[in-house]
Amino acid sequence: MILRFLLISILLTLAVRAAGRLIGGIIDGISGQPRGAGASQRRVQMARDPICGTFVLPDRALSIADGHGRVFFCSEICRDKYRARTA
Ligand SMILES: [Zn+2]
Repeated sequence: MILRFLLISILLTLAVRAAGRLIGGIIDGISGQPRGAGASQRRVQMARDPICGTFVLPDRALSIADGHGRVFFCSEICRDKYRARTA
């Protein structure tokens, strides 16, 4: 009885995932974007503002070069605070 329930829920999960992927593919097709581009957009890594903790998109955020790499900020206020702190 429990085994059958488990089997059904696993099958349902797989079916929902497959349907989601299919719908995503259709939407990508309608929007005219190549599937690869859409997928990479969704995979964009969010950067964290170290001052206020907000997650920002690296290509839209303000950034400064740090010793270890780039640090991203939501606003000039946070960037200036970071500069003041590390100076
Ligand atoms: Zn901030």
